[in-house]
Amino acid sequence: SSLKNIRNFSIIAHIDHGKSTLADRFIQVCGGLSDREMSAQVLDSMDIERERGITIKAQSVTLDYKARDGEVYQLNFIDTPGHVDFSYEVSRSLEACEGALLVVDAGQGVEAQSVANCYTAIELGLEVVPVLNKMDLPQAEPDRVKHEIEDIIGIDAMDAVPCSAKSGMGVEDVLNDLIAKIPPPEGDTDADLQALIIDSWFDNYLGVVSLVRVKEGTLRKGDKILVKSTGKIELATDIGVFTPKRLAKTELKAGEVGYVVAGIKDIHGAPVGDTITHAKTPDVPQLPGFQKVKPQVFAGLFPVSSDDYEDFRDALEKLTLNDASLHYEPETSDALGFGFRCGFLGMLHMEIIQERLEREYNLDLITTAPTVVYEVVTRSGEVVKVDNPSRLPDPGAIDEMREPIVEANILVPQDHLGNVISLCVEKRGVQKDMRFIGGQVALSYELPMNEVVLDFFDRIKSVSRGFASLDYHFVRFEASSLVKLDVLINGEKVDALALIVHRGNAHHRGRMLVEKMKDLIPRQMFDVAIQAAIGGQIVARQTVKALRKNVTAKCYGGDVSRKKKLLQKQKEGKKRMKQVGKVEIPQDAFLAVLKVD
Ligand code: GDP
Ligand code: MG
Repeated sequence: SSLKNIRNFSIIAHIDHGKSTLADRFIQVCGGLSDREMSAQVLDSMDIERERGITIKAQSVTLDYKARDGEVYQLNFIDTPGHVDFSYEVSRSLEACEGALLVVDAGQGVEAQSVANCYTAIELGLEVVPVLNKMDLPQAEPDRVKHEIEDIIGIDAMDAVPCSAKSGMGVEDVLNDLIAKIPPPEGDTDADLQALIIDSWFDNYLGVVSLVRVKEGTLRKGDKILVKSTGKIELATDIGVFTPKRLAKTELKAGEVGYVVAGIKDIHGAPVGDTITHAKTPDVPQLPGFQKVKPQVFAGLFPVSSDDYEDFRDALEKLTLNDASLHYEPETSDALGFGFRCGFLGMLHMEIIQERLEREYNLDLITTAPTVVYEVVTRSGEVVKVDNPSRLPDPGAIDEMREPIVEANILVPQDHLGNVISLCVEKRGVQKDMRFIGGQVALSYELPMNEVVLDFFDRIKSVSRGFASLDYHFVRFEASSLVKLDVLINGEKVDALALIVHRGNAHHRGRMLVEKMKDLIPRQMFDVAIQAAIGGQIVARQTVKALRKNVTAKCYGGDVSRKKKLLQKQKEGKKRMKQVGKVEIPQDAFLAVLKVD
């Protein structure tokens, strides 16, 4: 049937190995966009994605390609994000495919996240096709990297196709190779409709758009469809594919990937992982969905001006229409007033949401130090989850505290092994495994999540000069000696500055934290005392000395332009300051813990 000329595939690659560039090249080769439309990295469509050069939302593209065997193939490919924060998007995309291209930078070699994603693909029964990218670079070592792919991932790589997504060299070889190796989809276009929702997002013009993979049957424009989990019946008003432009079609058949618009108002009405069928065939079984993702990192977000609270709430509501992994609920802080406690997949997710709120919704926000979720067993035997240090029960009421533990898989070239091990030890890691594979070492550690989410990623990159890579996942909660670290400003406890830390390094953290805050809190008209306390006991103190009058005149006497600059800087800084008691505290000071090792 016609299915034999369809190929559904994803691209797996470590960040920066050239996945998006290769995808753009495919679009160009297949003529999906004219040269004029072919702006750099068309798939990374959100501004932030383009600026940061990363892919956040998975995207699908359908292209027709005339292969060397003379036949025209319909290629459906799904670009996926590479960062560990978004790995759940990867497994979702894989679910819709029969194969995956594993793109490896031939100069860098295999990296940990690609390994993890490859295992997911293999588990799902996908054909993994390795590709050696960046062959135009002089440091490319195709033979070493082929062996690495075989030794670390365990798939055949000797005939991996060499290419350069940048120059275009070998790109058509890649397309022909994937057509030969990846099997066509299976399915019966005449069967009852069964389609998997891979992704749903909110479009300002269309409402909710769902990306679906039709497993069985045929979905036609104008069909009455049933979303299995909600039981709601909707009219499929618009269906089609992305080329990557939106191209309307009259039908999507078994084996195909495309979009559906059905007048659904929010993404909860078209949940990712859900099954769509026809209203007249309600008994079609639900497909196995995806694992639900739970937020891992929580922080309080507060508008600098309390007038913005309602706008902030609206913005969060709109953002969750796009991003179901963002969680939020109202939070009240003595120090910061009304805001929201938000849950994120990781630090990068948090930064991106913060940036979108500020940029797209024009909000000035103060973010408190991020924290993981702890389990607290109370004296009465109750187990409560705590995602906010200021909500920690009284020490007297706590029987046991448990922290989340992750398994981290790290790949590092031998030269940097010592530094990476030292870092893992510093972060309270327990080594589980160490294997030498080619020039790299595969390390497995169990580490407290708290130590990993905050700055581990940056630290591991810096101690290995960028060569180590990391993948991690939650394994369990474990009893641990944890304490609350309070910060007092001029004698007053500031709830929004409280932290949960390990007892073993609580004193050190406290000292480093107040030291850092001393540098970050600007001088005011009076002395500002910053103290760290554990239990009732003060463990560290610093003072920001009072400003003497007319500081600009004194410091910068004659130099008018420097003086202007200073005033300008103060003005800009003002926006992101929050008055706590009588003291103005800037955003940086709330996040000072992120700058403390
Ligand atoms: P992604 O994070 O995997 O999507 O990677 P990108 O496609 O964004 O590429 C990361 C960087 O590598 C960009 O600066 C690209 O221009 C560059 N790049 C991608 N492919 C090649 C290639 O084949 N050769 C060279 N020299 N650079 C490449
Ligand atoms: Mg990309």
